Amino acid sequence: MSFVYLRRRDWAAFAVILAVAIAMYSVGSLTLKSVKETQLRDDAQISAMRWAKTFDHHSQNVRALFKDRQTLDLAQSIVSDSQQVGRIISYELYDAKDQRFYSAGAADWQPNENRATLLDSPLTREHIAARIPTTRLHTQDTANGPRRYASVVIPFYFANDYLGSVMAYIDQTELNASFTRSFGVIATVTIVIFIILTIVSFYVTLLKSRERWQAEERVSYLSRHDKLTGLANLESFNEHLGSALEARKETGDHLAAIVIDIDRFKEINDALGHEAGDSVLRLITERLKSNIRDGDFVARIGSDQFALTLSSIKRPQQAATFVATLSEALSTPLWINGEKISCSISIGCALASTDAKEMAILMRHANLALARAKAENGNSYTFFEEDMDAAFTKRRDMEADLRRAIESDQFELHYQPLINLGKKTISGYEALIRWNHPRDGLISPAYFIPLAEDTELIVPIGEWVLRRACMDAAAWPKPLKVSVNLSAVQFKRVDIVELVKNVLEETSLNPSRLEIEITESLLISTTGKVADDLNGLRDLGVSIAMDDFGTGYSSLSYISSFPFNKIKIDKSFIGAMINDSAILGIVKCIIAMGRSLGVTITAEGVETLEQSRILKRLGCHQVQGFLYSRPVSARECVAQIRDPRSIVWPGRECAETAKKIA
Ligand code: C2E
Ligand code: CA
Ligand code: CA
Repeated sequence: MSFVYLRRRDWAAFAVILAVAIAMYSVGSLTLKSVKETQLRDDAQISAMRWAKTFDHHSQNVRALFKDRQTLDLAQSIVSDSQQVGRIISYELYDAKDQRFYSAGAADWQPNENRATLLDSPLTREHIAARIPTTRLHTQDTANGPRRYASVVIPFYFANDYLGSVMAYIDQTELNASFTRSFGVIATVTIVIFIILTIVSFYVTLLKSRERWQAEERVSYLSRHDKLTGLANLESFNEHLGSALEARKETGDHLAAIVIDIDRFKEINDALGHEAGDSVLRLITERLKSNIRDGDFVARIGSDQFALTLSSIKRPQQAATFVATLSEALSTPLWINGEKISCSISIGCALASTDAKEMAILMRHANLALARAKAENGNSYTFFEEDMDAAFTKRRDMEADLRRAIESDQFELHYQPLINLGKKTISGYEALIRWNHPRDGLISPAYFIPLAEDTELIVPIGEWVLRRACMDAAAWPKPLKVSVNLSAVQFKRVDIVELVKNVLEETSLNPSRLEIEITESLLISTTGKVADDLNGLRDLGVSIAMDDFGTGYSSLSYISSFPFNKIKIDKSFIGAMINDSAILGIVKCIIAMGRSLGVTITAEGVETLEQSRILKRLGCHQVQGFLYSRPVSARECVAQIRDPRSIVWPGRECAETAKKIA
């Protein structure tokens, strides 16, 4: 186990523990030393006092001993008695004037200290008055005699008469050794216990630190990586790109920022399920990883977006080659659960050095390039070009313009008739919005509706269209219908059923005269709520048409999922069917299918008589197109209703009209 897990705090804690241990050890040994000395002192005093008692047996003689210094015999007898008691090595007798007049005991041993040091000071009146023995402990390094001994001075009295004192020397070598041994054992055991406790606590701390470290590592990893693919996330990508841009200042190499987006990923998710969607993301991650070189960095920066940096690029061409190879590798069909999935991928690339040097600008450029790739129907790659930036600025200006347009009522509705092919009558009109720009004149919805959808400005615009169209239609003769295009964003953002209901009430238009046109994108981009909304609209009595049929991913599957009242075949089919027998076959099928389902079939973009004739022959119910009438203003529309002859009906005049259009 490594110490790297330990933080500064842990080390500090151990330093404190160690310091405390050393302090405790020092205090402990000092305490033991003082305990030992107290024990030795007590022992000396007890031994001396016990020994001194033998003097009491000779108390009369003791007086004589001190007064008359009848030392010899008496001393001998005292010695012989006293040798039975204690560990007295020798003793000395001092008179009242503290003059030694006798010494006895081990002949070959003398303390190596003089009396003054043994007593610290000459025996004073206080010592004498206190009548207590004074004990000192000594250590001596001699070949013979005890290594450790104590000296005890015992004052002697007769009645209240101070006679003198006895200095007794007590051998404590063995006792001291035994104390030292016992205290040594205690100290050793304490130290061992302490070391064990320290090691255990150190180990536990280390384990905990490692766990904490691993948890922190995990949290930090998760905060910097995408859970599903294990790739770095946007935050890490930005960090990496920032340092890569710094690094390239030194080398002067090119650096490419590449943004990768899976086209219509939501459709894959909705059609095949989220698990399959996850598998797609993982497989794409694998492909990305296997295509990058050392030093390149790949990240998942959005639900279906990846980004990568290519560093050390000597020539821009290198980046171009890489992107081309990557695009090809990513576009190869994927196999998921035995099913082949063709994934379309869009790639945008920008170069630091030629395009931008700052991270934010570089990424904006890469994203603009991606947007261009996507706008060109996806499944392609694009390099940033200067005009994209201009387009971006233009778009931003247009958004501001669009907001102003809403405030100052710059929109108007044009109406294009829907012709009943069999009866040769007008069934109704489709409302098509126009932007009457104060500077640029009439602007086509194809130009501003996508922007209005992106910015959700379509919500107020769409509401205005619905109200205006219903108001206009309410003035038309019955049963003329009005068709209004609704965007998926409106379904997502507002309660569309409530809105339609209110507008119908406000304008007093019969619900059967309103038709809502929706595209497949609505059914793709929103979930269960859409079916409820569509049913709600039908319950109001409004009819629903599927617009631009055939251009989406899986138009057929949607047709079966909701009972539409009408299918509008996209104009691209009508335009191509004359020269393309396969397309003609598709148109034939759609009409046949519609008829069998009892759904009205409308063909859009009918421009020629030939198209009209074919459609009629195939059994198409309704047509709409320039052949009959272009979308006209509300005023012209009223005139057209009044005098339908202004419409060019297929017949003699049609040939001329067809020529005009051609
Ligand atoms: P759309 O709903 O498919 O509308 C039909 C478009 O085809 C109209 O274009 C119409 O002018 C055009 N068109 C009609 N006949 C012919 C023909 O014979 N040949 C050709 N080439 N085109 C023909 P427009 O008015 O420019 O509208 C474009 C699209 O803008 C519409 O396509 C619709 O998706 C959207 N749009 C228009 N008005 C609204 C609106 O009020 N709300 C929403 N959400 N979208 C709208
Ligand atoms: Ca339409
Ligand atoms: Ca259409």
